[in-house]
Amino acid sequence: MKPAPFDYIAPASVPEAVGVLAERGADSRVLAGGQSLLIELRYRTARPALVVDVNRIPGLSEITVEDGSVHVGALVRHAQLEHARFDDPLAGLFREVAPYVAHPPVRARGTFAGSLAWAHPASEWCALAMALDAGIELEGPSGTRTVSADSWFRGPFATACLPEELVTGVRLPRPPAGATAAFAELRRTHGSFALAAAMVVLRLAGGRVDWVRIGLANAADVPLRAMEAERLMTGERPERELLAQAAARAAAESDPADEPHAPAAYRRHAIGALVRRCLTQAVERAETP
Ligand SMILES: Cc1cc2nc3c(=O)[nH]c(=O)nc-3n(C[C@H](O)[C@H](O)[C@H](O)COP(=O)(O)OP(=O)(O)OC[C@H]3O[C@@H](n4cnc5c(N)ncnc54)[C@H](O)[C@@H]3O)c2cc1C
Repeated sequence: MKPAPFDYIAPASVPEAVGVLAERGADSRVLAGGQSLLIELRYRTARPALVVDVNRIPGLSEITVEDGSVHVGALVRHAQLEHARFDDPLAGLFREVAPYVAHPPVRARGTFAGSLAWAHPASEWCALAMALDAGIELEGPSGTRTVSADSWFRGPFATACLPEELVTGVRLPRPPAGATAAFAELRRTHGSFALAAAMVVLRLAGGRVDWVRIGLANAADVPLRAMEAERLMTGERPERELLAQAAARAAAESDPADEPHAPAAYRRHAIGALVRRCLTQAVERAETP
């Protein structure tokens, strides 16, 4: 199907884009990589009167490594994260996760921030943002604000972004030095959305877990952080029994929906298995210098 007619504008700066959104935000949509929006336009599940293409705005395509955080500009593509080379455990996690996001052509255009703005429950990046307590940076007519990931996701395809606001970037706190990470996903075919996915970032100190984050995708109608499982592990020795208990706890924290190819009970079981695999791998990576 062809999209319904719409006006198109490509602002050259963030203030210009915000000015347009301030006037017409309620009946407009921002276009970033277009890998989700164009499908919505073609199926006419979205019928905005105006499309605001932000791709010509300079300065939004950088990954910036700072002391305590990594900043991902609003136009950083999935492919940039797939090839991230900076010196931080986060770069390894980006490289491990990115190949699970769609196919190379989609990754060449789709953006990290666009994934967070779209808020598909199965999005790997949304789970990563949740696990690491990302701050989503917004600019709107009343200025700038940052929303933490746990307040950002309001439901499937629903976020705290107001129609007159533009996401300008995402700030990810850097895991502590020496942290290791692992990611695992269950999907029906290469390139399809996750039936369930898990990621773990942890650090061992003195043979005990002193810091751990567990993120889950498609484990509920919003991305989840398995905080009870994290609490269970913190301060403990990462023995097999503990990892199994933490994985079971993470599965119990999840609330997956029935899907035609994967009933909820099956998906909950899969979440436990994926978390256990990630925990085991992250611990092995921490123990292998
Ligand atoms: C075949 C296929 C397979 C896919 N598989 C996966 C997958 O496995 N995992 C996954 O996570 N995703 C998958 N996707 C989605 C893909 O990752 C998209 O790139 C991503 O969801 C949206 O990013 P985008 O930059 O393309 O955003 P767009 O499509 O441009 O926009 C998506 C939504 O976010 C809003 N938006 C975007 N940027 C901003 C901004 N800066 N400020 C405010 N609002 C904004 C738009 O208005 C729109 O509502 C797949 C897509 C396709 C086509």
